[in-house]
Amino acid sequence: MTPFERPDRRCPKCEHKGYLFRARKNVEVQASKFVETKYRCPSCTHEWWERIPAPPEQKQSVDAA
Ligand SMILES: [Zn+2]
Repeated sequence: MTPFERPDRRCPKCEHKGYLFRARKNVEVQASKFVETKYRCPSCTHEWWERIPAPPEQKQSVDAA
């Protein structure tokens, strides 16, 4: 399970509900980090990328007393 996959994602081509995960990569555009995920529709085999902002990096915070 990953936080990037929504159960209501649909194929942009045929709107089939459901998809197959294909790949994921991190990209950086103008100093902003994104995660691109590739999906494939099991119905029409259309493949597409979705880009979402990368989750903020976990900073190791030290509790300041
Ligand atoms: Zn489709």
